[in-house]
Amino acid sequence: QANATFITLARNSELEKLLPSIRSVEDRFNKKFHYDWVFLNEEEFSQEFIDAVSPLVSGKARFGIIPEEHWGYPEWIDKAKADDARKKLAEANVNYGGLESYRHMCRFQSGFFFHHPIMQEYRYYWRVEPETSLRCDIEYDVFQYMQTHNKKYGFTISITEFESTIPSLWNTTKEFVKQNPELIPKDNLLKFVSNDDGESYNLCHFWSNFEIADAEFWRGNAYSKYFEFLDKKGGFFYERWGDAPVHSIGASLFLPKEQIHFFGDIGYTHPPFSHCPTDSQALKELKCDCTAKQSFDWVSSSCLNKFYQARDIPLPDDWK
Ligand code: GDP
Ligand code: MN
Repeated sequence: QANATFITLARNSELEKLLPSIRSVEDRFNKKFHYDWVFLNEEEFSQEFIDAVSPLVSGKARFGIIPEEHWGYPEWIDKAKADDARKKLAEANVNYGGLESYRHMCRFQSGFFFHHPIMQEYRYYWRVEPETSLRCDIEYDVFQYMQTHNKKYGFTISITEFESTIPSLWNTTKEFVKQNPELIPKDNLLKFVSNDDGESYNLCHFWSNFEIADAEFWRGNAYSKYFEFLDKKGGFFYERWGDAPVHSIGASLFLPKEQIHFFGDIGYTHPPFSHCPTDSQALKELKCDCTAKQSFDWVSSSCLNKFYQARDIPLPDDWK
């Protein structure tokens, strides 16, 4: 077994939406492997939450509180400016544009969850959110797979970001890269996030509500420096930088491309999108409750084709 855990950030109020997600992961995967499951919250979990969740987890269920310095405004942030920015994004009808807690959540997921004292005990993690489900059985140990094949980041769905949430993220990234060119390996995945050799961001990102990854990468020098640089710029508050584009740009720039893995065999839904395996044999053998047709892979806002191209892997036959 690998040194690994599931990780869920959730509010007490999300209990009913979370229980079926846990059940699905247990039924499809973890009942065979019994990995631990860490639950984090910026408030104390209620006894009701703990009592409902614990019996569903076949490994150890662990509950942690997020330290204040990982969830709140750092001292260099101008709160009035942040308020103003949220109002503008709300008026522009951007998803979560006006929501303050969403900013703290994205910043936490970008730069801090892997530093939580409980999470520091683990190397690999699999992120699970409320309302998600696994659509096919998983017959092998995915954490072991990550370790054996030296993978650092795994995803199932990739998609384009709303530009209005990250207007200055790419220029900030370019500034960072200029100052730290030695952090970029030659065989990076830049082509996944940029169509013009780094000039501009193509908005592609791995949908981070699903992630199987090596936390050592986030805790390592390159990404830590990158996050700190972004955090100082304030875009988590003055814009609405999401952890998905931040993780994705970080992984694409700082990892050799073969260390990023597409889990095409994992059927997964986070409403409104699903990924379903396309191979009919696999659909049967893995008892999938989805169809290839409903898979997000090859719709126009999916970035999977970009990933294939950036990895220099041929597009599969069902690519239209
Ligand atoms: P979306 O997937 O971008 O629509 O955002 P979600 O509402 O699903 O939030 C992403 C993750 O962060 C989920 O696991 C939520 O349960 C969690 N989350 C979001 N906001 C908060 C919050 O204010 N407190 C806590 N504890 N968890 C949150
Ligand atoms: Mn979600």
